[in-house]
Amino acid sequence: MGPSGVGIAPNLEPPQGGGSERTSATSPPPLAALLRDLEARRRIEEEESKNSGEFECSPHLRQRLFRLLDGYREHTGIERLAKCGRVRHQVEVTGRFHDGRGRLAGLIRCKSKSCPVCLAQRRSQYAEQITRVAELWREEHGPVYMATLTIRHGWSDDLPTTAHGVREAWRKMIGGRPWKRLREKYGEWQFIVAEEVTHGANGWHPHLHVLFLPQRWLSEDEYLHVAGELYELWHSMVIRHIGEKFAPSPEHGADFRPASAGDYISKAIGLELADPGTKEGRKSGRTPTQLLAAFVEDGDEEALKLYQHFEAHMAGKKDLTWSRGLRDVREAAKSQIKEEAEMERDAAPVAFALPGNVWDLWRHQKDAHERLLNAAESGGYVAVAELMGRALGDWAALETRQLSAVRDAFRGDPADLKAAAKVAGELAFEQADIPF
Ligand SMILES: [Zn+2]
Repeated sequence: MGPSGVGIAPNLEPPQGGGSERTSATSPPPLAALLRDLEARRRIEEEESKNSGEFECSPHLRQRLFRLLDGYREHTGIERLAKCGRVRHQVEVTGRFHDGRGRLAGLIRCKSKSCPVCLAQRRSQYAEQITRVAELWREEHGPVYMATLTIRHGWSDDLPTTAHGVREAWRKMIGGRPWKRLREKYGEWQFIVAEEVTHGANGWHPHLHVLFLPQRWLSEDEYLHVAGELYELWHSMVIRHIGEKFAPSPEHGADFRPASAGDYISKAIGLELADPGTKEGRKSGRTPTQLLAAFVEDGDEEALKLYQHFEAHMAGKKDLTWSRGLRDVREAAKSQIKEEAEMERDAAPVAFALPGNVWDLWRHQKDAHERLLNAAESGGYVAVAELMGRALGDWAALETRQLSAVRDAFRGDPADLKAAAKVAGELAFEQADIPF
């Protein structure tokens, strides 16, 4: 089989443990079997990607993430996180819809790594950027490969130490002479590195997902050579910069394989941490968001302690690094995305607007975001006003309807001002009739 078959889709399964199929450092899985597997997966992924595209935050997931956030507010050590999505930074809170997805504006966003809502948002942005960059790269050069770099670790190992060690080992690896020799042989390789932490039976498990973007396809021999070299290099860097007992195992240490530029990239690098998913733990352990879900949904206090530990040590750390040579292509992808987002925003008018004082009372309600967006989706601002009326009183309904009607009439164009003033005047007149 020639190199042209390489690089379509990856094997998503983690390497199986158990010992019977142990592979040595220099012999990754037989290429023919790998390629058959890749081809089968590529077909499945093609089907799936037709339905997925960008990060889809279904209303169900959104509601779940907000519940996780609400359940964590009083336990976080980050002040801004406690206020995220709840405290206003504007005088009003507005809602818009685009493609059936609702969004509230005017609220503080903490952008913290330990905030389930902001994490999901950021991961979806990353996923979009990475997917575009990989697509642009494939058009220009062709191949995209993926590696997962891990270390051996135990229950008692300290997260800040091992996470720092993993980062350091990677940095030294790509700055070292053996790596330079590989570059001389195969040309300059660009990369995107995502740092991930999970928690499992052996404690904290910091590891790296690396997307490699080489200049050309590797032949079968070259592929085997790089896979072997990568493992050897990673192995020696881990021993040197973290310690002998952390030496990665041949079967899990440095898994290197071709990657598709489609949804796999988003799943592996972009979104793995964002969705709490199901309760069954994965082989590599639970993601931080799964730990948080275990606490909020099942009352697991131990999981809360672990999550707080994660927040204390990891929240401020960078979780994605791009090699310098990707700067231009990344900027191009970012500006593409920004342009599209602006067009989307312009296309989506304000569906409703809550006056600040109404939001400040409403925000204490359970599922405040979800119920608000659901009402707006089903019956526009009239339904939102009714909801506010039922929860807070007639005054809230009236103020909401008034502000929403004005915002609806005024779409940003100064020419709309007259219409907006007229609406406001009519509503004020209407309001005068209602006794408070
Ligand atoms: Zn947040």
